[in-house]
Amino acid sequence: MPVKTTCPYCGVGCGVLAGRDAAGKVTVTGDPQHPANFGRLCSKGSTLADTVDLDGRLLAPVVDGQETSWDAALDLVAEGFARTIREHGPDSVAFYVSGQLLTEDYYVINKLAKGFCGTANIDTNSRLCMASSVAGHKRAFGSDTVPGCYEDLELADLLILVGSNAAWCHPVLHQRMTAAKDQNPGCRIVVIDPRHTATCEGADLHLPLRPGSDAVLFNGLLAALMRANAVDGTFVRAFTTGVDTALDAVGDQTVAETADICGLTEGAVERFFDWFIKTERTVTLYSQGINQSSSGVDKVNAIINCHLLTGRIGRPGMGPFSLTGQPNAMGGREVGGLANQLAAHMELDNPLHREIVQRFWHSPVIADKAGLKAVDMFDAVADGRIKAIWIMSTNPLVSMPDADRVRAALDGCELVVVSDCLRHTETTRHARVLLPALAWGEKDGTVTNSERRISRQRSFLPAPGSARADWQIICDVAQRMGFGGFDYANAAEIFREHARLSGFENRGTRDFDISALATIQDRAYDTLAPVQWPVTSEYPTGAPRLFETGGFFTPDGKARFVPVTPRAPKNATSREFPLALNTGRVRDHWHTMTRTAKSPRLMLHMFEPCAEFHPEDARRESLDNGALVRLTSPFGAMVARVAVTSEQRRGCVFVPMHWSGEFAGEALANALVNPVTDPISGQPELKHTPVRAEPYLPKWHVFILSRREIEAPPGGYWVRGRMERYFRMELAFDERPESWRDWAREKLRLREAEIEWIAYRDPGAGRYRYAAVQNGRLEGCVFIAPDHKLVSRSWLSSLFAEDPLSPAARMSLLAGRPSDAREDIGQVVCSCFGVGRNQITTEALKGADTVEAIGKRLKAGTNCGACRPEIAKLLHAGVRDTQPA
Ligand code: SF4
Repeated sequence: MPVKTTCPYCGVGCGVLAGRDAAGKVTVTGDPQHPANFGRLCSKGSTLADTVDLDGRLLAPVVDGQETSWDAALDLVAEGFARTIREHGPDSVAFYVSGQLLTEDYYVINKLAKGFCGTANIDTNSRLCMASSVAGHKRAFGSDTVPGCYEDLELADLLILVGSNAAWCHPVLHQRMTAAKDQNPGCRIVVIDPRHTATCEGADLHLPLRPGSDAVLFNGLLAALMRANAVDGTFVRAFTTGVDTALDAVGDQTVAETADICGLTEGAVERFFDWFIKTERTVTLYSQGINQSSSGVDKVNAIINCHLLTGRIGRPGMGPFSLTGQPNAMGGREVGGLANQLAAHMELDNPLHREIVQRFWHSPVIADKAGLKAVDMFDAVADGRIKAIWIMSTNPLVSMPDADRVRAALDGCELVVVSDCLRHTETTRHARVLLPALAWGEKDGTVTNSERRISRQRSFLPAPGSARADWQIICDVAQRMGFGGFDYANAAEIFREHARLSGFENRGTRDFDISALATIQDRAYDTLAPVQWPVTSEYPTGAPRLFETGGFFTPDGKARFVPVTPRAPKNATSREFPLALNTGRVRDHWHTMTRTAKSPRLMLHMFEPCAEFHPEDARRESLDNGALVRLTSPFGAMVARVAVTSEQRRGCVFVPMHWSGEFAGEALANALVNPVTDPISGQPELKHTPVRAEPYLPKWHVFILSRREIEAPPGGYWVRGRMERYFRMELAFDERPESWRDWAREKLRLREAEIEWIAYRDPGAGRYRYAAVQNGRLEGCVFIAPDHKLVSRSWLSSLFAEDPLSPAARMSLLAGRPSDAREDIGQVVCSCFGVGRNQITTEALKGADTVEAIGKRLKAGTNCGACRPEIAKLLHAGVRDTQPA
């Protein structure tokens, strides 16, 4: 029987059925009964089975590079943290944790830090993701509450996505929205984003606003709502305060002023305002484009103000809706995972809350002031205020802004402990102690998704090596430090305590209350069905919506309008750094790729980090499509492959944040990012860093495809990955080896005597091609050129499936091009069926003019559906101007 569990990637929180087939192979399918996805999974979720092997796993504790026993490692950690606290005080230690942890893990580490170590120096990578939404919610509602549910997206007549490329970052939810729109022709979708992303496909309106001007747009909307008298006076009077101050702040901001500041046409702004004014059932979804800003909290409140003024909150099909990035960012918030929170949505700066939590925990101390938020925390590591840090399930050396500075900080820290399931990440390399943790498929606990839905993550694989659950590791350390209250028998016992605390002296004063689950037995916990909190005697089966009739968690029970004065991004572009760098995710990768890079299917869609430029910017900076570019900011530099697209706004460049030193050289996007933060939420401004771009012109461009793993070079630009039948590496460097052939053989790790070479040399043009054939089968090939115009890798990859190589294939290797143009499928669009861009445009030219028609002919888009917006985009562009490459 398959096990019901949840996807470990994004905040949609899709239900998964995981098991093994008759051959013992892990299988993963969508859970048709899970209310988040009703059986759907996106490209990442549907390839989870590729990611559960033990390759690269950390399976035993490691101290100073040597494997050791759990006892030795735990003693060292406990003694190190205890001594540091004794000698330098509680704030000399810190914990940096993760939205990938389960709620039970999160609960115990917060208990240890705040209630027993006495420090609130515990923060999480969720700080990088949704801290601005948390702060915005608290300012408006008095609590960190998402008022609505996913069903609202299907009931709405107007869906507004702000700073959210949901088609790539929350694909299943985006599919629910587009399916609902198909059912309801009256439904409109508006996308507000400087880039024309995949989410714009099928949208009724795209507002490519100037980066950072979102608050201006929503302030303009607030003024327009007032002018149109689109005000729910009853709701505003009964359930809110502060409307006049908020309206004073926007004054009579006109459509023309709004359009001018946002860099939009008046017509587009007018249309957006008009739709909002006239559409009762409106949901505004927002994500990292809003949160990752030096004024992210204000932007959140500018959006919420519009919903409060119209009373569109807590009712079916309406409300502001924060999309969380990570699978358990919400669960982390529930247990006080951020440095300025206490457990169960209580507040560190509230003496009563501190007293309640300390009494409940029977703890010797309770942190009495907010701890250091992520960026400040690593600054404190750098300057020696923090002397011991424990990093759990996250890779800050890749994900933090000004990442090179974080690396230097860890190198200088007295005690760095990392618990992770992987042996080799950027961060594990800099740890003194490594503690092996369980991975997805082995862990047991709960997570909470973007709609407040608590779901079980269940284990279906045995614990490998001596890996332990995170909660167990934390409790082992806590007990060694001499603390009581950490002797849990299992995750269920932790969950019960967490649920009990949520109801402890609550009496309706706090939003997070799951006290009806406080006595849940182990068996019932095992079978717990997904449920939306609160779960109380009033809402025994959970509550999909909150706040329809007020009941906010402010002292007077009323929501607060927040006056918003828009601020530009902290660091402006300049002559020296004229482009605004925007970082984000791509469709088939997740965070720092430690999981997604294990799936050959997920490597197909985007193999290399790209830098997207508007054609005008590319021309001005002399950048060719497909060539390499060096991006430089005042903080660092990176190299990426140029993608010229009119979908990019002029003056901006987009770079994905995923590639680390494990998979690429000189491609770390966050090395460039300015470490400036929102003054309230502490969330870094990952969406706006001034940079300059210049062509990166190495003397040699090379790619290698090989059945054997390819070693990373010591420096320069390179990217590597594992594909289905071979490994791939792209390189660019200056130094020419003495013999290209010897170099190729060495890279392919083959002995001369073993192979038959198919070689092409044109020293005059500087072009060389070597293919090694062994027993009639292609073992590997190396293509070398003085420019980036090398041949299609997708065509070459198909030759690895030929056994033996056909004479035509041998000829094509020599010629350096496919013998039949149709063999080159182009860049893969549908990773489920390996369908490439060229195949789609060819079918489009033959008359397939809908996504469904392409699906019928090529199967593309008929499995997970994550590629459907790109297919639609290709059809729109392809019929006009795209020819097969
Ligand atoms: S949308 Fe995709 S990545 Fe997100 S939870 Fe669902 S299957 Fe996982």
